Amino acid sequence: MPVTIIISVIGVIAIVALVTVAVLQNKPLHQKYKYGIVLDAGSSHTALYIYQWPAEKDNNTGRVEQTHSCKVKGKGISSYAADPWGAGESLTVCMQEAKQQVPVKRHHETPLYLGATAGMRLLNMENSSASDKVFEAVEQALQRFPFSYQGARILSGQEEGAFGWVTVNYLDDRLEQGLETTGALDLGGASTQISFVSDKYDGSESPSNSVTFRLYGNDYNLYTHSFLCYGKDQALRMALAYQTQLGPRTISDPCFHQGYNVSKEYSELYNSPCVSDRKPNGPPVTFNHQGMGNFQQCQEVVKRIFNLTSCKYSQCSFNGVFQPLLQGPFGAFSAYYFVMNFLNLTDTSTPLETVKDKLTQYCATSWAQIRLEHPNVKTKYLAEYCFSGTYILTLLTEGYNFTSESYSNINFIKKIKGSDAGWTLGYMLNLTNMIPAEAPDSPLLPHT
Ligand code: AMP
Repeated sequence: MPVTIIISVIGVIAIVALVTVAVLQNKPLHQKYKYGIVLDAGSSHTALYIYQWPAEKDNNTGRVEQTHSCKVKGKGISSYAADPWGAGESLTVCMQEAKQQVPVKRHHETPLYLGATAGMRLLNMENSSASDKVFEAVEQALQRFPFSYQGARILSGQEEGAFGWVTVNYLDDRLEQGLETTGALDLGGASTQISFVSDKYDGSESPSNSVTFRLYGNDYNLYTHSFLCYGKDQALRMALAYQTQLGPRTISDPCFHQGYNVSKEYSELYNSPCVSDRKPNGPPVTFNHQGMGNFQQCQEVVKRIFNLTSCKYSQCSFNGVFQPLLQGPFGAFSAYYFVMNFLNLTDTSTPLETVKDKLTQYCATSWAQIRLEHPNVKTKYLAEYCFSGTYILTLLTEGYNFTSESYSNINFIKKIKGSDAGWTLGYMLNLTNMIPAEAPDSPLLPHT
C-alpha cells in the first residue's frame, strides 16, 4: 500500500475517533451555534422548543431555526391547581431532553423562558393563589436546570397574537425583505387569536387592538385580538352549556356523531369561568350526551355562542370587537391545522361550499363507522372533530367575516421551514433583541 494512502487512512481514523469522543462527551468540535429554549404552557398541554442560530453573526442577527421540540406528557399546567408541584414535575422529562440537545458548553448562556397562555389566564381569573402556586412550582423545577432561566409568566392575549404574527412572517422571510405580510390565525384550547396588517387601519378606532413594530427598518401597524373562551375546548363547553339549558337530562347534540352516547358530569362541564355564570340551579349530577350528526344544525348551535349583532365601531368581528377589513394571505395554525388536517381539508383551493359538503358528510357518519375507520386516533379528539371542524368554519366565516372568496387566502400550516408556527419563536426573538429595528445594512440617513 503506498505511503500516502496509509497516511490518509490513519488521518481518517483519527478524525472519526475525535468526532466520536466529542459526540460522546456532548461537545461538538466547533461551537457554531447559540441556543434558546421556550416552553409553551398551553391550556391542554405544554411543549418545549429549542432554537439555534449561528454564533459568529454580529448582534445575533443570524437565522434562527427550531432544532428540537418535546411534548410534555399529561395535561397543561393550569390543570395542576390541586397539585402545583405536579406541574413542575411534569416538565422534567422534556427539560432533561433539552440538556442532552444543547451542547454542555452552551448550557449556562442559553436563555430559558416559559410563557403560559389562556389556560393560566382562566385559572388566574378563577383562583389567583392557585395560579401563583403553579408558577412557583414551575419556577423551582426550571431553576434546577443549568440554563439561564429568564422567568415564567402569563402572556397577554395581545402578546400571544402579535408574537404568532412575528413568527410566521419571520420564518417566511417577509420582515427582512419588507414584503407584504401574512396574517396569523391561532386556535388554542382556551383562546383564539387573529392578527394582520390592514393598510386602511391606523389603530385609532380601537387602540387596544393595535400593536406597532419597527422591524428591519419598516413600520408595521398590526391589528390583533385574542378571544378568551373561544379556543376550541372552551367553545365546546359554551355550546354544550347552551344546550343543557334547553333540556337538562339528555342533550341531543348535532355536533357529535349518531350513536355517540356518553354520560357526563355537570360539575365537570361548568368547571370554567367561560360557562360558570350559565350553570342551571340544582342540575342533576350527570347528563347523557347523545350525538345527532348534523352539520347544519351544529352550525346553528355554534352560532349561538357568538354575538353577531352589537357593534359600536365602523365594523366588528363578533362580541362587539372591532375588526378592520381582512387583508392579505393568512396562516392558520395550532388547532386549526390539527383539525383541518385530520378532516383532509387543508387544501384551500377546495371551494368553501365543497368544504361544507365534506363536513356535512363527515358529521353524518355514524360513531361506530368513524371509530372503525380511525382505530388509532385518541377517542376524545375523534369524538370532537365534527364539532371542531364546524366551529372553525363558523368562526372564520360568521365570526371573522371570511367569504367564499377570501377563504382561499387561508393556508392551514403546522411548520414553516422546519419550525412550528406559534407564538414561541416570535417571543424569543423579541426578548433576545434578535430582530433589529433598523435594516442592518441600511445607509445612514443624511442629517437635514
Ligand atoms: P393549547 O393547549 O391551548 O395550545 O390548545 C391546543 C388545542 O389543540 C387543544 O384544543 C387540543 O385539544 C387541540 N389538539 C392538539 N392536538 C390535537 C389533535 N391531534 N387533534 C385535534 N386537536 C388537537
